[in-house]
Amino acid sequence: MKKEYTCIVCPNGCLVTAERDTDHEEYTITGHGCARGVDYVRQELTDPRRTVSTTVGVKGGDMPLASVRVTSPIPLGKIPEAMRLIHAKTLTAPVHAGDIVIHSLLGLDCDVIAACSVSKRRI
Ligand code: SF4
Repeated sequence: MKKEYTCIVCPNGCLVTAERDTDHEEYTITGHGCARGVDYVRQELTDPRRTVSTTVGVKGGDMPLASVRVTSPIPLGKIPEAMRLIHAKTLTAPVHAGDIVIHSLLGLDCDVIAACSVSKRRI
């Protein structure tokens, strides 16, 4: 079985191929420009992960939404549940970039943090 991936670790975008011998569990990986491409494809084969960026509502802010992001990639299959949790959140101004919005998202070693600041609305 042969699978092809475009490595997204750097702008070179190498086309990396992983081919599994029918008799063995091991994949032979080719086409990578460096070792990071091998690590990327092994991760994609065994435990694909993605970063998540989105917005949450802010009460009393000079902007209605704040950008948020995860501090490390999360398993691909957990993204829908993570998005539901994040979107259920509402922040109260002021919000500071780096504030923790959700600690240990879904029990993972990953937080959701504010990616921007939102000041209190002036009346
Ligand atoms: S394999 Fe290495 S050189 Fe190629 S895109 Fe990935 S990180 Fe960049």
